[in-house]
Amino acid sequence: MISIINSLIIKIITLLPKSIVQLFAGKYVAGENHKTALGVVKSLNNQGFSATIDILGEHVKDVFEAEQVTSEYLNLFDEISESDLDSNISIKPTHIGLDVADSEFISNLQLLIEKADSHKNFLRIDMESSSVTDTTLRAYTKMLKKTKALGTVFQAYLFRTLDDIKNIQNEHLNYRLCKGIYRESEDISIQDRNGINKNYLKILRHTFMVNNYVGIATHDINLLEEIYSLIKELNVPIDRFEFQVLYGVPMSGWLEKHLENGYKVRVYVPFGPNWYDYSIRRIKENPNIAGYVIKNLFR
Ligand SMILES: Cc1cc2nc3c(=O)[nH]c(=O)nc-3n(C[C@H](O)[C@H](O)[C@H](O)COP(=O)(O)OP(=O)(O)OC[C@H]3O[C@@H](n4cnc5c(N)ncnc54)[C@H](O)[C@@H]3O)c2cc1C
Repeated sequence: MISIINSLIIKIITLLPKSIVQLFAGKYVAGENHKTALGVVKSLNNQGFSATIDILGEHVKDVFEAEQVTSEYLNLFDEISESDLDSNISIKPTHIGLDVADSEFISNLQLLIEKADSHKNFLRIDMESSSVTDTTLRAYTKMLKKTKALGTVFQAYLFRTLDDIKNIQNEHLNYRLCKGIYRESEDISIQDRNGINKNYLKILRHTFMVNNYVGIATHDINLLEEIYSLIKELNVPIDRFEFQVLYGVPMSGWLEKHLENGYKVRVYVPFGPNWYDYSIRRIKENPNIAGYVIKNLFR
């Protein structure tokens, strides 16, 4: 019954006015402007967490807008440094120009890498849908020859992922490993939850064996149990990985558990006026969506 109500709510949620959706979105988004987001990061740092900041938005079609977004990110690097915050930055390729032209994306990426380098900070390229995986990985591999301040993301649901990782020859590989959020076809991706988890662990085992640095990005408690066992089995040094979570997703005590074990935890902190698409994705992933939506409607 609950699952029927959940899928019904998923169907109607995109039909609701934005003002209503915003009632549920707040929890997943650190406000609309950079001051609020930096405040959230400061508070997370005070609780022992690192952060990565993301300005919400994607699929920018206009060259000036892509450059405007890039310039907001450049300022953000300055502000993180001025406020002495423990945070790096995550960007989406189509937010900084990939839908305009590959060259636009590359030149904006170059500016951001130079800025990250100048502050001894770090830039991560989020992974979007499979239509841009090749371009994203090409850019990442090319830029990685010039800097250590750059990472990307790999998605465990794609068949290609382990080969992609093996194909990048660089001793400074630093990637976030997540399950993957976009709807991909069965020709190129694993569709079932168990299969994705199995592949996640296979990729993680390889990662630990070859000593790549990894951001373990999952809220899946069963998977986390297995990851803890793998870390123990392989005796992985704590400076070879960190755990990563999305701002606002409940973790039933696991964040504290990570910290107690001496593991680094990084919270992904998204903000900005373009909160809608991101929030809808998060709401749809919430297994208690019905209860959550109803509670917030009556709050
Ligand atoms: C730091 C970080 C960065 C990411 N970056 C990318 C990226 O660049 N590209 C990409 O494709 N994907 C990215 N993702 C999203 C990721 O691919 C998954 O879609 C998402 O994390 C859910 O997968 P899961 O591993 O948490 O497992 P799931 O099986 O989806 O969830 C496990 C459990 O977590 C809890 N949970 C998960 N989501 C919610 C929610 N919204 N509200 C309440 N509870 C929830 C529930 O208890 C659920 O049962 C990122 C995720 C994280 C944590």
